[in-house]
Amino acid sequence: MTAQDCLQILREVKDAAFATMDENGYPQVRIIDVMLVEDGTIYFCTARGKDFYQQLARTGRAAVTALNKDYQMVRLSGKVKRLTDQKKWIDRIFEENPSMKEVYPQDSRYILEPFCFEEGQVEFFDLGKSPIYRENFTLGDVKKEQKGYEITDGCIGCGTCMEGCPQRCIEEGTPFSIRQENCLHCGLCAENCPVQAIRKRGR
Ligand code: SF4
Ligand code: SF4
Repeated sequence: MTAQDCLQILREVKDAAFATMDENGYPQVRIIDVMLVEDGTIYFCTARGKDFYQQLARTGRAAVTALNKDYQMVRLSGKVKRLTDQKKWIDRIFEENPSMKEVYPQDSRYILEPFCFEEGQVEFFDLGKSPIYRENFTLGDVKKEQKGYEITDGCIGCGTCMEGCPQRCIEEGTPFSIRQENCLHCGLCAENCPVQAIRKRGR
């Protein structure tokens, strides 16, 4: 699995949920087509009159997620940019997505503005496997976020976390350790540890 594979899943599902923040600080989500995957990013478009466009232009940020038929979920969250060569990109998007011509016939297509993600965090989450499988990637020049939980040297080896873990992804050792690729990030182990030896990663 690579970041490119994740972007390809978004393109294959195509109708993905895109989230932005509105001017009142409320999250807004809608289904938008992933129009292209190229040069290590995804491309999409929206009309200048839409709230989605205003929110993208104001914040420069968005998140997108989709689930395929195999219960594999991809999430991408980060910075977006509007592409300057508008007509070139809209024509290219229409070539790759011919059904768009019915929605925006002839030159009405140029009310659309093309965007792509310029950087962000990518998450792959496979719920079709047991235990679940997850992997994180980045787009662009950003540091990979550390998510989930880790076991610190405060561990006394009592085994409580291992017994309660719903994915059986905690292994014995000094200290005990979590197989991060199989972890749900549910936090049950941290709640159950009698000596608070389990903490959130990246904090
Ligand atoms: S519950 Fe806490 S102390 Fe016990 S094995 Fe797990 S991390 Fe270590
Ligand atoms: S966060 Fe949940 S799934 Fe992950 S190790 Fe802890 S109990 Fe297991």
